[in-house]
Amino acid sequence: MKCVRCKKKAVIVLRRHNAAFCADCFLHYYKNQVLKNIRKNRMFEKGEKVLAVVSGGKDSMALWDILVKEGYNVVAMYINLGIGEYSNRSQEVVEKFAKENNLPLIVKDIKKEFGLDIYKLSKTLRRSPCSVCGSIKRYLFNKVAYDGGFSAVATGHNLDDEAATLFGNVLSWEEGYLARQGPVLPQTHPKLIKKVKPLYTLTERENMYYVLLNKIEFLHEECPHSVGARSILYKELLNKLEEESPGTKQRFLSGFLKKGKKHFQDVREKLELKECKNCGQVTTTEECSFCRFVKICNQQ
Ligand code: SF4
Ligand code: ZN
Repeated sequence: MKCVRCKKKAVIVLRRHNAAFCADCFLHYYKNQVLKNIRKNRMFEKGEKVLAVVSGGKDSMALWDILVKEGYNVVAMYINLGIGEYSNRSQEVVEKFAKENNLPLIVKDIKKEFGLDIYKLSKTLRRSPCSVCGSIKRYLFNKVAYDGGFSAVATGHNLDDEAATLFGNVLSWEEGYLARQGPVLPQTHPKLIKKVKPLYTLTERENMYYVLLNKIEFLHEECPHSVGARSILYKELLNKLEEESPGTKQRFLSGFLKKGKKHFQDVREKLELKECKNCGQVTTTEECSFCRFVKICNQQ
């Protein structure tokens, strides 16, 4: 099969676009997708400070690399969540990439810095490790972005992630989540920094090609707690549909963003936003969950 752009031998076929690309033209396509997503959704401008959330996986490594290559003012941030060897290995990958490319990287270690332990919290609060972990990550990324004067927090969410999340939210008609789902979560409070997803139109497979073609090292293993997650089942179901009918995921997501989302805009969060009495970060209670977590973990 030949590349649709230059007619050289193709190395990747993108059935949903009815296209095939050689390595160079694939990278050209990839770059254009990311730049278009950033501009079309007004995610950030060239000079603005962007905090890129990195985990060592292929998606966030691709995000980090492309933002740097395209000249954005990007600083990466990694959180060691204390998930055994998985956390240690992912930190190594991220630190190595930063060092080899001389890139700014902020590393937070929740155990060393705050005494936090997601397993202790999960047991004490009877919440899943993912729910505790998610709260901690959201808090720290936002706090670092706010304190550091960043305009946006960028994550490596891809088309597969977004379609699976949408699928789950539609299955249970989560109106609040549907109202907010999209490539940009705007700033609703001066202390809540905008969240953006520049890779939302690119698939996991395309991100994998991007890191392989650029010889970027990444952690192949997933977090052990992602095994059995509902989102993985949704991804598998969507992959089956995609196999039968290429473009299903993209049509599902882009159709929702263009035609579906507006019907949920009246669903406003009724929760009143306050500032935590300890740390000043935004919360809906007197004291934010992060500050409560720190107290629980540091009690004897
Ligand atoms: Fe955290 Fe769960 Fe993601 Fe692992 S899978 S990083 S525990 S949210
Ligand atoms: Zn707090």
